Amino acid sequence: MTNWQLMIHGGCGSMRLTAEEERAGRAGLNSALDAGEAILARGGDALDAVEAAARVLEDHPSFNAGRGSVLTHDGHIELDAAIMDGRTRSAGAVAGLRTVRAPISAARAVMERSPHVLLSFDGAEEFVREQGLETVDPSWFEIPERRAMLDRVLAEGGAFDADVKYGTIGAVAADVNGHVAAATSTGGLTAKRWNRIGDSPLIGAGTYADDRAAAISATGSGEYFIRTVAAHELCARMRMKGEDLQTALDGVLAEIGALGGKGGMIAVSPAGEAAWGFTTAGMYRGKVSASGREVAVHGA
Ligand code: ASP
Repeated sequence: MTNWQLMIHGGCGSMRLTAEEERAGRAGLNSALDAGEAILARGGDALDAVEAAARVLEDHPSFNAGRGSVLTHDGHIELDAAIMDGRTRSAGAVAGLRTVRAPISAARAVMERSPHVLLSFDGAEEFVREQGLETVDPSWFEIPERRAMLDRVLAEGGAFDADVKYGTIGAVAADVNGHVAAATSTGGLTAKRWNRIGDSPLIGAGTYADDRAAAISATGSGEYFIRTVAAHELCARMRMKGEDLQTALDGVLAEIGALGGKGGMIAVSPAGEAAWGFTTAGMYRGKVSASGREVAVHGA
């Protein structure tokens, strides 16, 4: 038996939040920790814990995933998600979903019930409908704040990440059997076009889990996390350079910074160690283990 650990994030960025926004975000993080903790504390699987935690964050409007996702350039929603099991390195991912309520569970269905790793757009919709996953009208995902954000970004010329707020959600966990898992879900970037897909659903970039090293979920300027294959790079540093979890995480963020990218990552090792880091002003984040719970928004 090893120590279980759950770590989550709700995206990073400038974190200029009203008191009410911060309160709501913290409440969402705590509910997600509750959901994952209930599974891990009774000896359940890391994979089930990250899915459960991610579903709570997807449903919570404070975050850019599921309900509360940002809008594309032409005003709709395209949802991306990925999940990975460190025990077998099985993985599943979806990109460009519009009606599936829990994209993370759609990713899990791809992993467990299809021969593929990544499905996208209409084909992904068709697959998850065949699997009987819950769908909702696309309007269910939209909240007025994201519409206002899109209007603002378009008025400023449509720069993709003009407000530098990345609200993607993620969860990583280690269970008592020493297995790790990772989950990431996002609406992507405000005003994205051309069916742009970020790092979140790309295995190795925004999401990765390997029992030989760690489980990772990222948030930030996705293109840089793709170019550095960030989550896998963190594992490679541990496996091949012998770096510890925090050193590897800091090293990857520094590499991304050197290229001009910003963001954050959360990571756990199979032994239950936890590390987080970000190069923005703040990151919605939380962790829980048998030794306690921490939720934070600002600062280092
Ligand atoms: N990394 C995500 C993307 O590029 C955005 C985010 O973290 O909010 O799609």
